[in-house]
Amino acid sequence: MTLAPRAAVGVATADAVVVGAGPAGSAAAWFLAEAGHDVVLCEKETFPRDKVCGDGLTPRAVKALRMLGLEDEAEGSVPGWDRQGGLRMYGGGVVLDLPWPDLDDWPAHSVTATRSLFDHTLARNAQKAGVQLWEDTEVLGPVWLTESERRVAGVRYRRADGAEGVVRAPVVLAADGGSSRFAVQLGLHRDEARPMGVAVRAYYRSPRAAMGMMEGFLELSRDRPGGGSELLPGYGWIFPLDDGLVNVGWGLLNTSEHFRSTNYRRTLDEWVGGFPPEWEITRETMVGRPRSAGLPMGHNRKPPVHRGAILVGDAAGMVNPFNGEGISYAIEAAAFAAEAVDAALRARSDSPLHTYERAVAQAWGGYYTLGRLFVRIIGHPEVMRFCTVHGMPRPALMTFVFRLMAHLTNRDSRDVTDRVVNALSRVVPAA
Ligand SMILES: Cc1cc2nc3c(=O)[nH]c(=O)nc-3n(C[C@H](O)[C@H](O)[C@H](O)COP(=O)(O)OP(=O)(O)OC[C@H]3O[C@@H](n4cnc5c(N)ncnc54)[C@H](O)[C@@H]3O)c2cc1C
Repeated sequence: MTLAPRAAVGVATADAVVVGAGPAGSAAAWFLAEAGHDVVLCEKETFPRDKVCGDGLTPRAVKALRMLGLEDEAEGSVPGWDRQGGLRMYGGGVVLDLPWPDLDDWPAHSVTATRSLFDHTLARNAQKAGVQLWEDTEVLGPVWLTESERRVAGVRYRRADGAEGVVRAPVVLAADGGSSRFAVQLGLHRDEARPMGVAVRAYYRSPRAAMGMMEGFLELSRDRPGGGSELLPGYGWIFPLDDGLVNVGWGLLNTSEHFRSTNYRRTLDEWVGGFPPEWEITRETMVGRPRSAGLPMGHNRKPPVHRGAILVGDAAGMVNPFNGEGISYAIEAAAFAAEAVDAALRARSDSPLHTYERAVAQAWGGYYTLGRLFVRIIGHPEVMRFCTVHGMPRPALMTFVFRLMAHLTNRDSRDVTDRVVNALSRVVPAA
């Protein structure tokens, strides 16, 4: 259902306006509405709508869903949501089942849901909290406070029927995804030196939808025409969904020499072509078309507070460089952003907005610095191959790597993995 803007097309006002109703935007709007603010959330599409993703929600994202009051979805106990007990890793000729760790600070399961359902659920959740969700409403650019264009004072938008208008608000949250036109209009461009990924995914009808595990592939291979197989660049996944489908995809980082020269869809076909027949993941069982998109990583657009606007989620390049996970960080950042905006609105001052950047840096700044280093190292295929071949046969080592990559540690703990990951994240500076 598309809601028309409450005010007649022209000028509307709100405490905050949010650009984009992906996980970052819908969550930020929800947190602000819960704090008692009048929020307009502009989304250029109409829900439900497709979005290119692996559809995977690790225990970290499950916890983020709980923050939004979506308890049943977080448990995977409603139709359309599937629940898994761990990750099965493939690499170096070894298959390793790693249950999600049993930790005090994090749930011990993951869930999956198509982004079509997931984003729709979060947008409706925001609406139920009192947010004005304006679908079919594309934000065209900022409204400036003064002619000098130093500070934003709202947004200009166009609806699908062509009508244009303005929402005036003391704060704008830009949650319009990786290419964030709004951030570019504020003069904030992506830092090309920071990691970026590209990934492609497709849906298949397969019995593996019932496997109860997520699957990760540290190596991809294809059959050679003359027999045998050869390695392909990149990393892959198979994530089960509730409705008999699996989400299969693979991706590559910009530190790889193949980043620009690879045909992503053909490689997906070649990789899938080598799967065991009983998985029934073939061209014939594919549902819809493969689609690809970018993953902006490691805080690749800075600063996140600029000229009265706050960047949240992919707009600020918040995907975890270790594992390509972006949804949890988008929601966690939305919570930090809403707290800063709430304080700024109450104080009628911009200075509390800057607590956002500090909160994000404190939460995962050091960890992301490590992640950027990790991405540089695994960009060398020989290093990656060495680590896979020598790491995979050592379950204790892989358990450590698994928890490091999934960013799952107890904060106050005597466990060695917790202490090493926490200490590294603390001593390495956020940048
Ligand atoms: C192939 C692939 C697989 C991935 N797999 C996973 C995974 O399994 N798990 C995980 O956690 N992360 C995954 N990610 C990353 C994840 O998809 C992103 O990190 C996440 O979508 C970020 O959410 P967001 O709200 O910041 O941005 P988005 O989800 O991109 O949402 C932005 C929203 O803004 C809207 N918008 C854009 N411009 C405007 C405008 N001008 N006006 C109004 N609306 C606008 C868009 O329509 C969209 O709804 C994957 C990414 C890719 C590409």
